[in-house]
Amino acid sequence: EQKVVLITGCSSGIGLRIAVLLARDELKRYHVIATMRDLRKKDRLVEAAGDTYGQTLTLLSLDVCSDDSVRKCIDSVKDRHIDILINNAGVGLLGPVESISMDEMKKVFETNFFGTVRMIKEVMPDMKKRRAGHIIVMSSVMGLQGVVFNDVYTASKFAIEGFCESMAVQLLKFNVKLSLIEPGPVHTEFETKMMEEVAKMEYPGADADTVRYFKDVYIPSSIDIFEALGQTPEDIAKCTKKVIESSRPRFRNLTNSLYTPIVAMKYADESGGLSVHTFYNLLFNFGSLMHITMSILKCLTCSCLRRRTISPD
Ligand code: NAD
Repeated sequence: EQKVVLITGCSSGIGLRIAVLLARDELKRYHVIATMRDLRKKDRLVEAAGDTYGQTLTLLSLDVCSDDSVRKCIDSVKDRHIDILINNAGVGLLGPVESISMDEMKKVFETNFFGTVRMIKEVMPDMKKRRAGHIIVMSSVMGLQGVVFNDVYTASKFAIEGFCESMAVQLLKFNVKLSLIEPGPVHTEFETKMMEEVAKMEYPGADADTVRYFKDVYIPSSIDIFEALGQTPEDIAKCTKKVIESSRPRFRNLTNSLYTPIVAMKYADESGGLSVHTFYNLLFNFGSLMHITMSILKCLTCSCLRRRTISPD
């Protein structure tokens, strides 16, 4: 029997690729409901879907930021039956906090955090009743580790990680699976859109040094990191398909092995200093391999030899 998979944010990037990969499954195991805010942006998906469009892939409009839109969309699904919900829709936000308005910050939380919560709230009760289902959430390595000048985006991903960590316990009781996918950098429009925003930004309220660190230090090193470590949206789609098809899916799924040491640093040094200083060195002493090597050695030493907690006295 075909599984019904509903995916948010399918007009581009990772969402589009997951939709196409699942719709093209050789055994036709999935009926994909690919959703997007604005159906006028469907062309790229329809083209990539080829002859699966209208067969194993259908389109519906859905804005994760609207109660009405989410309700209408889910109500239009036969028996409201969704086997797999893939929360992919998300937006980025880069720049010095001083120059970002509170409204812009709230928009990021509205999409990345409340958008995902809204979807889960709408779909989860039916899954609980059926004692079956799988919820996938597109988080990020930035859901586990803060990254300079991505302060608010990172916070929105941390928020959804905390939400899911809490939900997972309850859902286990109802046999509903919950999995986080945590990609590192991925070459999608996400990157292009952010770079366009950055070029347009005037940074009101930020001092000259901060603007310089952002534009002349962070941005070039971020581009280097994307080039060196970036994965394709297809890579992430394949990882997601594996998670869906696993008989015992993991809760956390990093997709890029080059990022595991970065995540491990946080747990290797309880004081938090190791992460902060490593990132400081990566940013301000980029190219100084010695610094990076030293940080990684320190990281190993910390985890093997020193396990400290804060003493109350
Ligand atoms: P993308 O910009 O190509 O895709 C995001 C999609 O979400 C777009 O199609 C956009 O239209 C849609 N969207 C935005 N607001 C929406 C709303 N209110 N309702 C419905 N759809 C909405 O970028 P992407 O890289 O494919 O991003 C997909 C997910 O992957 C995001 O959650 C992002 O945070 C996450 N992610 C991306 C990267 C990366 O480097 N690109 C890394 C880690 C995680």
